[in-house]
Order: sequence, then structure tokens, then C-alpha cells
Amino acid sequence: MIRSLQAIQAGRAFALLAALFVAAFGAAVVLLALDQQRVIEATSRLQDQTVPEIIRFQRLARNLEQLRQEGERIFAVSSHASRQQSMFVVTLIASHPSILEHPGAAQLARETEQFLGEVVRQSIADDRRPATRYDEWQRLAARLGMQVDDVSIQGINLANNDLVVATSAMKLARSKLMMALILVGVFLLGFMILVRRHLIQPLQQINLALSTLSADRPAPDFKPSTMLEIQAVEESILEHHALLIQNDETRQVLEKLANKDGLTGLMNRRHFMQSAEVELQRAQRYRRPVTVAMADLDFFKKLNDTYGHAAGDAMLRAFADLVQDTLRQSDLVCRYGGEEFAFLFPEIGPAETQKLAERLRARCDAMEVSLPDGRVIKATVSIGLADASECPIEIALKRADEALYEAKRLGRNRVELSGPPVPATDSEPDMRTARLF
Ligand code: GH3
Ligand code: MG
Ligand code: MG
Repeated sequence: MIRSLQAIQAGRAFALLAALFVAAFGAAVVLLALDQQRVIEATSRLQDQTVPEIIRFQRLARNLEQLRQEGERIFAVSSHASRQQSMFVVTLIASHPSILEHPGAAQLARETEQFLGEVVRQSIADDRRPATRYDEWQRLAARLGMQVDDVSIQGINLANNDLVVATSAMKLARSKLMMALILVGVFLLGFMILVRRHLIQPLQQINLALSTLSADRPAPDFKPSTMLEIQAVEESILEHHALLIQNDETRQVLEKLANKDGLTGLMNRRHFMQSAEVELQRAQRYRRPVTVAMADLDFFKKLNDTYGHAAGDAMLRAFADLVQDTLRQSDLVCRYGGEEFAFLFPEIGPAETQKLAERLRARCDAMEVSLPDGRVIKATVSIGLADASECPIEIALKRADEALYEAKRLGRNRVELSGPPVPATDSEPDMRTARLF
């Protein structure tokens, strides 16, 4: 339940981030489009209206200036014809459409035309007359100059208005673009954090878990993932780990079964031969003493015939337990077949092995095995030993078997050593007891 809630949270986090981004980025794009629209409107207005208007203002200013210059000329020239020429130009300019459509300029042009007309007429009567009105003309010329400036400024202002609108729209667009870029950056950062937290880190955990997955190690400890897909992978890794452990346990059981004798639990012959071969090679390489032995329960057929096969089995199991209890940890023993057993004693030579084998023989001799029906059975064992420090395992076992045959021949329930006899010591127990059923 908690895992599925967390899974929803991861999906929600991605969805929420995406929704926020789409909303904010969409809003930024719409605002940018509005600003762009304002810029387009301002520039097209500048192109279609303002620029022709500016040209008209410029023409008006030029005509007013021309009017002022012609007026100046009327006062400057001495020839009457030149004055009339200039007056003609003044009349033309004063009635020019660019002047007539501007009320202030039209009024001033009319005043100028009237004044200059009077001056020209008066100059016909008296050539010195214009000079007396020059002060008046200068005031009028100053007004014309001011009108020229006004008209020019009006033209510039017109352009300015449109440019201000366009510039402010562009500034706004720039700041909105910056905001949109910051938004993209924030989104990418948030996206990277989410991807790192919900994808990269869990994948790194999975990678580590897979590279170290083994039956010998504990199951990987995943932090609860927030994505269903990651959870599925983690769960299958845990299942895989459980399967590895199960397989390993099965392998160990099978290995034991394959190497063990089913009745006695001792090594089987095949496994013994492999282990003994390795042990023998090691001993021979380092020139260490090593001895092998063959043991065979005496008159076992008779025991079977007298007490039954199950009793024989019970005796075999009891003997196997006795062997394991008597031998050292490092000794190798197997059920060689039927009621025969093979041994390998590392690090001890024939003399010491003989003592060990004698102890086994004596303990077997003393052992009583109780049957389920209350009867008690006993058995003896004959053992043959052979020095294995200088020959292959097969030869050494063959010689031990010959010694065993000799033990049987000499009366059973005894230990015999192959090759030159080892001198008996005082402490050695009596090995000549034979037990017959
Ligand atoms: P010896 O003293 O010369 O060794 O005589 P023996 O009777 O022990 O030897 P023999 O080879 O004549 O008989 C061995 C018997 O061991 C014959 C067989 O029925 C018996 N035997 C072999 N394997 C098993 C087993 O797994 N369980 C039982 N109960 N008996 C077995
Ligand atoms: Mg036997
Ligand atoms: Mg036998």
C-alpha cells in the first residue's frame, strides 16, 4: 500500500512539474506574442502614418523657412523687380497646401503675406520705406522661425511616440523572454532532480545489486522506490536472489547426495577416490607420510543370514558411526562397497596408523548393536594397511586389500600391514583375537 502510494507520488511529481511548466511557459509565450503584436502595430503605424506625417511637417517647416528667407530678401534687395519676384514666391508659398492644412502656419503665412505685400507696395512709392519696417519684419521673422521649430519638434514628437511604444514593448518582451528562459532553467533543474531521485539513483542501486548479487551475500536492501517500473525490477532482483539461495541449497544437497553413501552417510567410493587422489598427491609432493587401509566386516553374510538384512544394515550404520567417532577429522573414509570400507590417513605412517586401526578394531569388537526387536548383535572387522607415500592410490589400496586378505587368512578380527612388518611394541594391544559366528 505504502509502495503504491509512493509510486503515485513519483508520477504526480512528474505530472505536476510538466503541468506547471506548460502553464507558465504557455502564459509567457502568449504575453510575448502580445508584446510582439504591440511592436508590429507601432512599427506599421510608424511606417504608414507617422513617417508621411513627419515628411509633411518637414515640408511645412521648409516652406515656412523659405517664406522667412524670401521676406528677408525683400528687405535686402534694392531692385523693385527682385522684391516683386520674392513677393510672388511668398504668395505661392502662403497658398501651398502644406501650409494651408496647418491652422497656425496658415495664419502666420497670411500675416506674413499681408505684411510683405504692404512693404512691397510701399516700396514702390518710396524706396527707403522698407527699411523703416524692418523691425516689424524681424519680429514676424522670429515668429516664423519659432513656427519652423514648433513644426519640426511636432514631427519628431510624432516619431518619438511610436518609438517609445515600440521600445517599451520590446523591453517588456525582453524581460518576459528572460523570465521564460529562467522558467525553462528551473523546469530543467526540477526535471533533473526528479530524474536523478526517481530514476538514476534507483538504477545505480539496481546496477550495484546486480553486480554483487550472490547466494553468499544477503539480499540487496533497496530503498523503497517511487516508480512502479523500478519496483518491478527490484522485486524481480529479490526473487532472483531468493532463487539463487534456493538453487545453492539444492546444489549443496545434491552434491552431498552425489558424494555420500545412502546407507551409512560416509563418502561414496567415487568421491573418496577423488579426495584421496588429491590428498595423496599433496602428501607425496611435500614428502609427508600417508597410509591407506581397507576394512571388511567378518562373516557378514552369516550375520545377514542369521538376523536378516535389516540387521546387517543396522550393523553397517553402527560401524560407520564408530569409524567417524574413532578417526581423526583429517582422515578420509568411505564405504567401498558391501561391507568393505577404505581409508586414507594423512600425516601418519604405517606404525601410527596401525595403532589407530587397532583401536578401531578393538572398539568394533566391543560394540553391541541393539535391534528394534530387542536382540543384540555383534561383529568384528579385519583391516589391512599399506604405506601410500610412494605409490599411486590404486596400488596402495590394492596392497592394503592384500593385507586385509592376509588378516582374513590369519583368522579375522585383526590388523595386518602390507610389506615388511612393523615391529610390535609393548603397548600394542593383542590383535590376534578372532571371532566367529
Ligand atoms: P568374510 O569374513 O570373509 O568377509 O565373509 P563375509 O561373509 O563377510 O563375506 P562375503 O563376501 O561372503 O559376504 C558379504 C555379504 O555382505 C554378502 C552380502 O549379502 C552382504 N552385504 C553386502 N552389502 C550389504 C548391504 O548393504 N546390507 C546388508 N545387510 N548386507 C550386505
Ligand atoms: Mg566380510
Ligand atoms: Mg567383503
